[in-house]
Amino acid sequence: MRYVIIRDDDTCALTPVACLEELYRPFLENGLPVNLATIPRVNTRAVWRDGSAEGFRAFASGQEPPHLALAENPGLVAYLKTNPGFRLVLHGYEHTYLEFQRPDAADLARRLDHGLELFAQAGFPRPSTFVAPYDQLSREALREVTRRFPILSTGWFELRRLPVTWWPAYFRKKIRRTPHWRVGATRLLTHPGCLLSHQRDLIRMLDTIRRTLENAPLTVLVTHWWEYFHRGQRNPAYIEVLHQTAALLARESDLRVITFDDLLSPDAALAAALRTTGLE
Ligand SMILES: [Zn+2]
Repeated sequence: MRYVIIRDDDTCALTPVACLEELYRPFLENGLPVNLATIPRVNTRAVWRDGSAEGFRAFASGQEPPHLALAENPGLVAYLKTNPGFRLVLHGYEHTYLEFQRPDAADLARRLDHGLELFAQAGFPRPSTFVAPYDQLSREALREVTRRFPILSTGWFELRRLPVTWWPAYFRKKIRRTPHWRVGATRLLTHPGCLLSHQRDLIRMLDTIRRTLENAPLTVLVTHWWEYFHRGQRNPAYIEVLHQTAALLARESDLRVITFDDLLSPDAALAAALRTTGLE
């Protein structure tokens, strides 16, 4: 059995329900859970390094207040609650540029704690997992995140950014060549880049996904809802690739889609697979 975790980033108070519904209904109908990396208090003026608007502002009017907490979009909150196939994980705090690459531990701690509070205020259970904006974390952020979350999902890990006490575990991971690893009770997951991305070749995308899943016991498949509606323009060809991915995941009997939460209470088959990935 091979396992897949679907991670869609950047859901926030600016996300139209209709986008999530169109993208993920085929997943939910097939019992394929989707982890939404959700921004608790989105910066409605967030920009990329070059000053252009963040992709998740695709449907924003520009008239919103500077920040919007998740609970300020009650329609979205109600929709997420009526569809338990969506599992929320915490994605930064405001999602300003490289927000968790900053070195100020006290500020990072405040962002994490308030983010968790805002999830609770919106009526969601405490998330098990943290995802940093742009998958970038400073050494201080790694410390503060792993104090609060049993699971961190990111792109890759660099020795120079790791707390020194993590180095022995990191070298063991390198020697064992496992994709994921563990420091104490904290599960640290990597992913093979955004295989589902509007900047990649749509024709070859499904095949790349299929080959990646074939070759790994546990893959985190990352995408971003707004890329299917870039600058407010619906991209039917790209949406079709996502839906073909759902069909592939539903059809292949030796592929199982799980949630991040499932890693904390694995059944026997998953536990066996996790031992080969570096997570157990
Ligand atoms: Zn993001």
